[in-house]
Amino acid sequence: MDVIVAGDRAELDVARTELGVGRLALVPTMGALHEGHRSLIRLAGEHADQVAVSIFVNPLQFAPNEDFSRYPRTFMDDLEVCQEEGVRLVFAPSADYMYRPDRQVSVSAGEMGAIVEGAFRPGHFDGVLTVVLKLFNLVRPDVAVFGRKDAQQLALIRRMAADLDLPVEILGAPTVREPDGLALSSRNRYLSAADRATALSLSTALNEGSSRATPPEVRQAAREVLDAAAHADPPLLLDYLALVEPATFTEIPDGHVGDAVLAVAARVGTTRLIDNVVVTFG
Ligand code: AMP
Repeated sequence: MDVIVAGDRAELDVARTELGVGRLALVPTMGALHEGHRSLIRLAGEHADQVAVSIFVNPLQFAPNEDFSRYPRTFMDDLEVCQEEGVRLVFAPSADYMYRPDRQVSVSAGEMGAIVEGAFRPGHFDGVLTVVLKLFNLVRPDVAVFGRKDAQQLALIRRMAADLDLPVEILGAPTVREPDGLALSSRNRYLSAADRATALSLSTALNEGSSRATPPEVRQAAREVLDAAAHADPPLLLDYLALVEPATFTEIPDGHVGDAVLAVAARVGTTRLIDNVVVTFG
Protein backbone atom coordinates (compact mmCIF):
# COMPACT_ATOMS: atom_id res chain seq x y z
CA MET A 1 0.00 0.00 0.00
CA ASP A 2 1.20 3.46 -0.83
CA VAL A 3 2.26 5.80 1.92
CA ILE A 4 0.07 8.90 2.29
CA VAL A 5 1.99 12.19 2.61
CA ALA A 6 0.36 14.99 4.58
CA GLY A 7 1.67 18.52 5.14
CA ASP A 8 -1.01 20.13 7.30
CA ARG A 9 -3.93 19.40 9.61
CA ALA A 10 -6.51 19.22 6.79
CA GLU A 11 -4.44 16.64 4.90
CA LEU A 12 -3.84 14.72 8.13
CA ASP A 13 -7.56 14.58 8.83
CA VAL A 14 -8.25 13.22 5.31
CA ALA A 15 -5.48 10.65 5.81
CA ARG A 16 -6.84 9.58 9.20
CA THR A 17 -10.23 8.91 7.60
CA GLU A 18 -8.55 6.90 4.86
CA LEU A 19 -6.60 4.83 7.39
CA GLY A 20 -9.80 3.98 9.29
CA VAL A 21 -10.09 3.17 12.96
CA GLY A 22 -7.43 1.27 14.90
CA ARG A 23 -4.42 2.12 17.00
CA LEU A 24 -2.07 4.62 15.42
CA ALA A 25 1.63 4.86 16.33
CA LEU A 26 3.78 7.90 15.62
CA VAL A 27 7.56 7.88 15.13
CA PRO A 28 8.78 11.50 15.17
CA THR A 29 12.01 12.07 13.21
CA MET A 30 14.05 14.79 11.56
CA GLY A 31 14.52 12.61 8.45
CA ALA A 32 17.80 11.32 6.99
CA LEU A 33 16.41 7.97 8.06
CA HIS A 34 18.80 5.14 8.99
CA GLU A 35 18.60 1.70 10.62
CA GLY A 36 17.91 3.30 14.01
CA HIS A 37 14.76 4.92 12.64
CA ARG A 38 13.80 1.66 10.92
CA SER A 39 13.98 -0.16 14.26
CA LEU A 40 11.68 2.46 15.83
CA ILE A 41 9.19 2.00 12.97
CA ARG A 42 9.24 -1.78 13.48
CA LEU A 43 8.70 -1.45 17.23
CA ALA A 44 5.85 0.99 16.53
CA GLY A 45 4.28 -1.60 14.22
CA GLU A 46 4.26 -4.13 17.06
CA HIS A 47 2.20 -1.78 19.23
CA ALA A 48 -0.32 -0.37 16.74
CA ASP A 49 -2.37 -1.19 13.63
CA GLN A 50 -0.85 1.64 11.56
CA VAL A 51 2.41 3.55 11.77
CA ALA A 52 2.88 7.23 10.98
CA VAL A 53 6.30 8.87 10.68
CA SER A 54 6.82 12.60 10.96
CA ILE A 55 9.73 14.17 9.12
CA PHE A 56 10.47 17.69 10.30
CA VAL A 57 13.80 19.39 10.93
CA ASN A 58 12.63 21.48 13.86
CA PRO A 59 14.25 24.95 13.80
CA LEU A 60 13.15 25.55 17.41
CA GLN A 61 15.55 22.95 18.81
CA PHE A 62 18.67 24.33 17.12
CA ALA A 63 20.61 27.28 18.57
CA PRO A 64 21.83 29.92 16.07
CA ASN A 65 25.38 28.47 16.21
CA GLU A 66 24.21 24.89 15.56
CA ASP A 67 23.82 22.86 12.35
CA PHE A 68 20.18 23.55 11.34
CA SER A 69 21.01 24.77 7.83
CA ARG A 70 23.40 21.91 7.06
CA TYR A 71 21.33 19.17 8.72
CA PRO A 72 20.89 16.41 6.07
CA ARG A 73 17.59 16.54 4.16
CA THR A 74 16.91 13.41 2.10
CA PHE A 75 13.13 13.42 1.72
CA MET A 76 12.76 11.15 -1.33
CA ASP A 77 15.06 8.51 0.20
CA ASP A 78 13.16 8.81 3.49
CA LEU A 79 9.84 8.18 1.71
CA GLU A 80 11.32 5.03 0.20
CA VAL A 81 12.42 3.82 3.66
CA CYS A 82 8.91 4.47 4.99
CA GLN A 83 7.37 2.62 2.05
CA GLU A 84 9.71 -0.36 2.61
CA GLU A 85 8.84 -0.46 6.31
CA GLY A 86 5.08 -0.43 5.71
CA VAL A 87 4.53 3.08 7.11
CA ARG A 88 1.04 4.28 6.09
CA LEU A 89 1.33 8.00 6.79
CA VAL A 90 4.19 10.49 6.55
CA PHE A 91 3.61 13.91 8.08
CA ALA A 92 6.09 16.40 6.63
CA PRO A 93 4.96 19.95 7.42
CA SER A 94 6.83 23.11 6.47
CA ALA A 95 8.44 25.26 9.17
CA ASP A 96 6.09 28.10 8.22
CA TYR A 97 3.10 25.85 8.85
CA MET A 98 4.39 24.66 12.22
CA TYR A 99 5.47 28.07 13.48
CA ARG A 100 3.21 30.98 12.63
CA PRO A 101 4.94 34.36 12.92
CA ASP A 102 2.52 35.48 15.66
CA ARG A 103 2.99 32.41 17.90
CA GLN A 104 3.45 33.08 21.63
CA VAL A 105 3.06 29.91 23.69
CA SER A 106 5.57 27.08 24.00
CA VAL A 107 6.46 24.22 26.34
CA SER A 108 9.10 24.63 29.04
CA ALA A 109 11.25 21.63 29.90
CA GLY A 110 11.78 23.09 33.38
CA GLU A 111 14.94 22.53 35.43
CA MET A 112 15.41 19.10 33.91
CA GLY A 113 15.77 20.76 30.53
CA ALA A 114 18.68 22.87 31.73
CA ILE A 115 20.98 20.12 33.05
CA VAL A 116 23.40 17.65 31.37
CA GLU A 117 22.64 17.97 27.61
CA GLY A 118 20.45 21.01 28.33
CA ALA A 119 23.37 22.83 29.96
CA PHE A 120 25.23 22.70 26.63
CA ARG A 121 22.17 23.40 24.46
CA PRO A 122 20.11 26.13 26.17
CA GLY A 123 16.51 26.08 24.93
CA HIS A 124 17.01 22.82 23.04
CA PHE A 125 14.60 20.73 25.10
CA ASP A 126 11.95 23.48 25.14
CA GLY A 127 12.09 23.29 21.34
CA VAL A 128 11.91 19.49 21.37
CA LEU A 129 8.94 19.35 23.75
CA THR A 130 7.09 22.09 21.89
CA VAL A 131 7.38 20.32 18.55
CA VAL A 132 6.55 16.91 20.04
CA LEU A 133 3.40 18.27 21.68
CA LYS A 134 2.38 19.92 18.39
CA LEU A 135 3.03 16.67 16.49
CA PHE A 136 0.92 14.75 19.03
CA ASN A 137 -1.93 17.27 18.68
CA LEU A 138 -1.79 17.18 14.88
CA VAL A 139 -1.34 13.43 14.29
CA ARG A 140 -3.22 12.31 17.46
CA PRO A 141 -1.38 8.98 17.90
CA ASP A 142 -2.28 6.39 20.55
CA VAL A 143 1.39 5.53 21.03
CA ALA A 144 4.66 7.27 20.13
CA VAL A 145 8.13 5.72 19.88
CA PHE A 146 11.42 7.46 20.72
CA GLY A 147 14.99 6.18 20.75
CA ARG A 148 16.93 5.63 23.99
CA LYS A 149 19.88 7.03 22.04
CA ASP A 150 18.45 10.43 23.09
CA ALA A 151 17.90 9.33 26.69
CA GLN A 152 17.31 12.75 28.25
CA GLN A 153 14.89 13.63 25.46
CA LEU A 154 12.97 10.40 26.09
CA ALA A 155 12.90 11.06 29.86
CA LEU A 156 11.61 14.60 29.29
CA ILE A 157 8.92 13.42 26.86
CA ARG A 158 7.77 10.92 29.47
CA ARG A 159 7.67 13.77 32.02
CA MET A 160 5.69 15.98 29.65
CA ALA A 161 3.19 13.16 29.01
CA ALA A 162 2.79 12.66 32.78
CA ASP A 163 2.82 16.33 33.84
CA LEU A 164 0.42 17.48 31.08
CA ASP A 165 -1.76 14.33 31.10
CA LEU A 166 -1.19 13.59 27.42
CA PRO A 167 -3.38 10.74 26.14
CA VAL A 168 -0.48 8.99 24.43
CA GLU A 169 1.65 6.02 25.45
CA ILE A 170 5.41 6.67 25.22
CA LEU A 171 7.71 3.80 24.21
CA GLY A 172 11.52 3.76 24.28
CA ALA A 173 13.49 1.78 21.68
CA PRO A 174 17.04 0.39 22.06
CA THR A 175 19.98 2.16 20.42
CA VAL A 176 21.05 0.69 17.08
CA ARG A 177 24.83 0.61 16.58
CA GLU A 178 27.35 -0.12 13.83
CA PRO A 179 29.11 -3.49 14.31
CA ASP A 180 32.07 -1.67 15.95
CA GLY A 181 29.81 0.08 18.46
CA LEU A 182 29.31 3.55 16.96
CA ALA A 183 25.69 4.60 17.56
CA LEU A 184 23.87 5.33 14.32
CA SER A 185 23.10 9.01 13.82
CA SER A 186 22.03 11.17 10.90
CA ARG A 187 25.10 13.26 11.73
CA ASN A 188 27.54 10.34 11.20
CA ARG A 189 27.56 11.14 7.48
CA TYR A 190 29.61 14.26 8.30
CA LEU A 191 32.46 12.16 9.74
CA SER A 192 35.64 11.54 7.73
CA ALA A 193 37.43 8.20 8.29
CA ALA A 194 39.75 9.89 10.81
CA ASP A 195 36.83 11.63 12.54
CA ARG A 196 35.01 8.34 12.77
CA ALA A 197 38.00 6.64 14.44
CA THR A 198 37.99 9.35 17.12
CA ALA A 199 34.18 9.24 17.41
CA LEU A 200 34.37 5.55 18.22
CA SER A 201 35.85 6.50 21.62
CA LEU A 202 32.34 7.51 22.77
CA SER A 203 30.93 3.99 22.62
CA THR A 204 34.29 2.52 23.76
CA ALA A 205 34.22 4.75 26.84
CA LEU A 206 30.63 3.74 27.63
CA ASN A 207 31.53 0.09 27.21
CA GLU A 208 34.58 0.36 29.45
CA GLY A 209 32.60 2.26 32.05
CA SER A 210 29.62 -0.05 32.10
CA SER A 211 31.83 -3.08 32.77
CA ARG A 212 32.80 -1.64 36.20
CA ALA A 213 31.04 -2.33 39.50
CA THR A 214 30.71 1.00 41.34
CA PRO A 215 29.83 4.56 40.21
CA PRO A 216 33.35 5.98 40.84
CA GLU A 217 34.92 3.08 38.89
CA VAL A 218 32.45 3.53 36.03
CA ARG A 219 33.19 7.26 35.79
CA GLN A 220 36.96 6.72 35.95
CA ALA A 221 37.09 3.93 33.36
CA ALA A 222 35.00 5.94 30.87
CA ARG A 223 36.99 9.10 31.51
CA GLU A 224 40.32 7.36 30.81
CA VAL A 225 39.15 6.43 27.30
CA LEU A 226 37.85 9.97 26.67
CA ASP A 227 41.06 11.56 27.99
CA ALA A 228 43.12 9.42 25.59
CA ALA A 229 40.83 10.41 22.69
CA ALA A 230 41.39 14.08 23.55
CA HIS A 231 44.95 13.55 22.24
CA ALA A 232 43.91 11.76 19.03
CA ASP A 233 44.01 13.34 15.58
CA PRO A 234 41.46 14.82 15.21
CA PRO A 235 40.94 15.27 18.95
CA LEU A 236 37.77 14.46 20.85
CA LEU A 237 36.40 17.63 22.45
CA LEU A 238 34.37 16.46 25.43
CA ASP A 239 31.25 18.38 26.45
CA TYR A 240 30.30 16.10 29.36
CA LEU A 241 30.41 12.63 30.84
CA ALA A 242 27.55 12.11 33.31
CA LEU A 243 26.29 9.22 35.40
CA VAL A 244 22.68 10.05 36.16
CA GLU A 245 19.38 8.78 37.48
CA PRO A 246 17.38 7.65 34.39
CA ALA A 247 14.11 9.49 35.10
CA THR A 248 15.51 12.81 36.40
CA PHE A 249 19.00 13.05 34.90
CA THR A 250 20.45 14.17 38.24
CA GLU A 251 23.92 12.79 39.18
CA ILE A 252 23.70 9.57 41.17
CA PRO A 253 25.48 9.24 44.54
CA ASP A 254 28.47 6.87 44.83
CA GLY A 255 26.38 4.32 46.75
CA HIS A 256 23.59 4.23 44.15
CA VAL A 257 21.68 0.96 43.75
CA GLY A 258 19.68 0.22 40.59
CA ASP A 259 19.86 1.64 37.07
CA ALA A 260 21.79 4.71 36.01
CA VAL A 261 22.45 6.27 32.62
CA LEU A 262 26.07 6.84 31.63
CA ALA A 263 25.81 9.64 29.07
CA VAL A 264 28.44 11.35 26.96
CA ALA A 265 28.51 14.23 24.48
CA ALA A 266 31.54 15.35 22.49
CA ARG A 267 32.56 17.11 19.32
CA VAL A 268 34.81 15.73 16.59
CA GLY A 269 35.71 18.47 14.16
CA THR A 270 32.43 20.29 13.54
CA THR A 271 30.21 17.29 14.35
CA ARG A 272 28.64 16.90 17.78
CA LEU A 273 27.76 13.38 18.91
CA ILE A 274 25.93 11.96 21.93
CA ASP A 275 25.61 8.43 23.26
CA ASN A 276 24.63 6.60 26.45
CA VAL A 277 24.24 3.20 28.08
CA VAL A 278 22.30 1.97 31.08
CA VAL A 279 24.45 0.67 33.96
CA THR A 280 22.91 -1.38 36.77
CA PHE A 281 24.38 -1.22 40.29
CA GLY A 282 23.88 -3.52 43.24
P1 AMP B 1 16.30 12.18 14.88
O1 AMP B 1 15.80 12.01 13.48
O2 AMP B 1 17.78 12.10 15.01
O3 AMP B 1 15.68 13.37 15.58
O4 AMP B 1 15.79 10.91 15.67
C1 AMP B 1 14.44 10.50 15.61
C2 AMP B 1 14.25 9.38 16.60
O5 AMP B 1 15.13 8.31 16.28
C3 AMP B 1 14.57 9.80 18.03
O6 AMP B 1 13.60 9.23 18.90
C4 AMP B 1 15.93 9.21 18.26
O7 AMP B 1 16.19 8.91 19.61
C5 AMP B 1 15.86 7.95 17.42
N1 AMP B 1 17.21 7.48 17.05
C6 AMP B 1 18.21 8.20 16.50
N2 AMP B 1 19.32 7.42 16.36
C7 AMP B 1 19.00 6.20 16.85
C8 AMP B 1 19.71 4.96 17.01
N3 AMP B 1 20.99 4.84 16.62
N4 AMP B 1 19.06 3.93 17.55
C9 AMP B 1 17.77 4.04 17.96
N5 AMP B 1 17.04 5.16 17.84
C10 AMP B 1 17.64 6.24 17.29
